Amino acid sequence: MVNSVKIINNGKELEIDFGDEIKIFTARDLRINCGCANCEEEWSGKRILEPTTVSNDIVLEDFMYIGKYALQFLWSDEHFTGIFPFTVLKNLD
Ligand SMILES: [Zn+2]
Repeated sequence: MVNSVKIINNGKELEIDFGDEIKIFTARDLRINCGCANCEEEWSGKRILEPTTVSNDIVLEDFMYIGKYALQFLWSDEHFTGIFPFTVLKNLD
């Protein structure tokens, strides 16, 4: 159960209160871990996105809830197709 999700530090970071734990993610780390079909091969899990192509200045501009189980993000590079289940976010380092 997630209590709250908020964009902090002018979009450089995202804070999620999981109830038992509060985690802070950088916008860049989330972008690099995007699991959409443009960033990761669906059947092999092989990364397509090259992390060096993600700018250090990337910002998280917006997010929305997908039901109660996931978040979808909009980054400043106009990427938005990734859906991040809370179970994945909770285990992301
Ligand atoms: Zn993606």
